[in-house]
Amino acid sequence: MASIGAMGGFTGRSTGFIVPPGIRQRTRVADVPAGRYAPSPSGDLHVGNLRTALLAWLFARRSGRRFLIRMEDLDGRSIAGAADRQLADLAALGLDWDGHVLYQSTRRDRYAQIIAELTAAGRTFECYCTRREILDAPRAPHAPEGAYPGTCLRLSEAQRSERRTGRPPAIRLRAGVTGFTVHDELHGSFTGPVDDFVLQRGDGTPAYNLAVVVDDAESGIDQVVRGDDLLTSAPRQAYLATVLGHTPPRYAHVPLVVNAEGVRLAKRDGAVTLKDLAAQGVSPVDVLNLMARSLRLATSGESVAAALLLDRFAPAALPREPWVFPGPRQDHR
Ligand code: GLU
Repeated sequence: MASIGAMGGFTGRSTGFIVPPGIRQRTRVADVPAGRYAPSPSGDLHVGNLRTALLAWLFARRSGRRFLIRMEDLDGRSIAGAADRQLADLAALGLDWDGHVLYQSTRRDRYAQIIAELTAAGRTFECYCTRREILDAPRAPHAPEGAYPGTCLRLSEAQRSERRTGRPPAIRLRAGVTGFTVHDELHGSFTGPVDDFVLQRGDGTPAYNLAVVVDDAESGIDQVVRGDDLLTSAPRQAYLATVLGHTPPRYAHVPLVVNAEGVRLAKRDGAVTLKDLAAQGVSPVDVLNLMARSLRLATSGESVAAALLLDRFAPAALPREPWVFPGPRQDHR
């Protein structure tokens, strides 16, 4: 009789996780595919960020993946101490992660190398456009709003030196396609525009779309769970992954948390961080319970731990609508 392993490379584990086919017992830990949470350390995480982190953790752990944390600290918005506070908040909710936290600021050489390789392959061009010029440029009739109009795409050497004004250029991808389709666990097949997007900004900072793709691929991340405000970025990122020779990850863009007006939750909405809520007598456990109820993983009055949520979590049963955060004046316990 064929063993389970012989049938599908499926070995199962005593943890009760659903182990993806193809992962064998002797696989090195670093080869086990991973999910991730990738916050920008620009301040404390609020309930919206924390709920997305919880979902990313549930998706990854439930499917037997590793769970990685990456700090997206490339732009000037990082605040000293914020990364450590974010990690402490995730731990306070009972979320754990594998290995070291990756800081994108330590990877600048790698991003520069990838851009150099793309350039050597003829896949980039220098762009001298200002934001205003891009907005004002005439566009092809069906070009999507905000898509790069192609101004610097085919400049002669003479035109290029004319446009060189002393400001260093941005580097854009020569995309060669206008759209790309991704698979999303919650949104199904999603096709979105791909333009000649920026890989490196004029000030030399690697662009978010480049860093995210390089890091996901090189960390073994094959599952990307994040807020659904980033769904429209997925086609660009998945396309760039293929240009770099990688298989795009599987996506799950999850509903956002909104305030009473239906607007995406923000710090200005009051007591929305663990610290603020603790000052109002709402503990991290209370916040976890509240989030669990919002995900229909716990009933009112029930106190749950992250591990129990893992047993209950079923992606297909996830609510598809935004969660309205009840607000600081409500009783969260
Ligand atoms: N760093 C981004 C954010 O905090 C998330 C990027 C991603 O998950 O791809 O919104």
